[in-house]
Amino acid sequence: MAHSTDFLESTFKSKGLPLTVQRRVVYQNVASRQDHPTADDVYLAVQKEHPDFSRATIYRALDCLVQIDLLSRVASFGSAVRYDAKQEHHDHMHCTQCGQVADVEAGDLNLLPKLKQDLGFTVETYSVHFRGLCPECQLEKTNKEN
Ligand SMILES: [Zn+2]
Ligand SMILES: [Zn+2]
Repeated sequence: MAHSTDFLESTFKSKGLPLTVQRRVVYQNVASRQDHPTADDVYLAVQKEHPDFSRATIYRALDCLVQIDLLSRVASFGSAVRYDAKQEHHDHMHCTQCGQVADVEAGDLNLLPKLKQDLGFTVETYSVHFRGLCPECQLEKTNKEN
């Protein structure tokens, strides 16, 4: 479901921040893709239509969007930070070879009651990271081994 411009406008308004063209374009780019782009990926994509946007501008827009919870940073393992516009809780599968990140719906992990019971914590948020090889990298590995 694509968010309308109204949604962006009202979110910025509620935070008392101006919705600049740069912020709008950056948000729309991340929200339109499923590949959890890095800041550079966003920069390269946005540059095609807006060659006047500098790298620093894109980075600042990403930071701002993260601050107001429109985007989240995907924890990464030694590779560049990636961005995600999906707001519903979900987890990520990371390819250890190429860095590709895929969404995982792991609602049935069923860890929360156990944590509360065993450790006495109340859990406010959690994230689980799966690491492995994406289909392309598995194929590459098989080809190398044979
Ligand atoms: Zn891979
Ligand atoms: Zn995601």
